[in-house]
Amino acid sequence: MPSHAGTPVIEISGLTRVYKRRRTPVHALKGVSLTVGQGERFGIVGESGSGKSTLLRLLCGLDRPTSGSIRFEGQEIVGRSNLRFLREKLQIVFQDPMSSLDPRMRVRDIVAEPLVALGLPVGGRVAELLDEVGLPASAAERYPHQFSGGQRQRIAIARALAPRPSVLVADEPVSALDVSVRGQILNLLADLVDAHGLTLVFVSHDLSVVRHVCESVTVMHDGEIVESGPVDSVWAAPQHPYTQTLLQAVPTLEGLL
Ligand code: ADP
Ligand code: MG
Repeated sequence: MPSHAGTPVIEISGLTRVYKRRRTPVHALKGVSLTVGQGERFGIVGESGSGKSTLLRLLCGLDRPTSGSIRFEGQEIVGRSNLRFLREKLQIVFQDPMSSLDPRMRVRDIVAEPLVALGLPVGGRVAELLDEVGLPASAAERYPHQFSGGQRQRIAIARALAPRPSVLVADEPVSALDVSVRGQILNLLADLVDAHGLTLVFVSHDLSVVRHVCESVTVMHDGEIVESGPVDSVWAAPQHPYTQTLLQAVPTLEGLL
């Protein structure tokens, strides 16, 4: 896989997020800095509670940091109220397609939703997107509950691609799925990222999953980055004891892909 020392698309520096839980502060992020280059497939790995989803929510402008800076294509997004430019260019796929898809909406409207929200033309885009994610055109008239978990994640991916983003963010996109369909969805994501030359920010608790789709990885532990590098080097020779522990967890996808 090529390495991308190219133009930085995402530059995060000194990012902190403190939540309050029953008056006790929870330090979800403790000064995270990272850079993602144009076209890079950037993985973030860490066990549950390490701050991965918090980081992605801040990156997508869905939450505000306690301190720190996030630049997208050179523009600061922290503290900005108009994030339209970000919504056009960066889209997210969440972990659980059951809760991320509105059960009362037809697939047609779910997939078109980001376009409608941005005031962009829908035209024949829904059929095109369904085809790209391997669903029949007839899926458009149906509702999320009429599909399997893997198919629902395909719908969520179609929706994310609708506004032709340059960056795709995925938060544990296969963790809620049946083990038997995880490989298909990961391959689909990888193919779409290739086909559209997307920059990918991909979060998982499983380094073997990250290794399948990413070229570089950052390891998070307890709100901090403990190690970063090319995914094959980190896989072959983890430097930090925490990464070594993560790798001792069974590589669930080996043999399935
Ligand atoms: P991950 O995605 O790696 O599992 P999260 O970013 O979801 O980690 O959580 C990091 C830490 O922040 C955890 O201790 C979690 O309980 C806490 N946290 C996350 N969101 C909130 C919230 N909205 N309110 C309070 N604590 C939160
Ligand atoms: Mg999470």
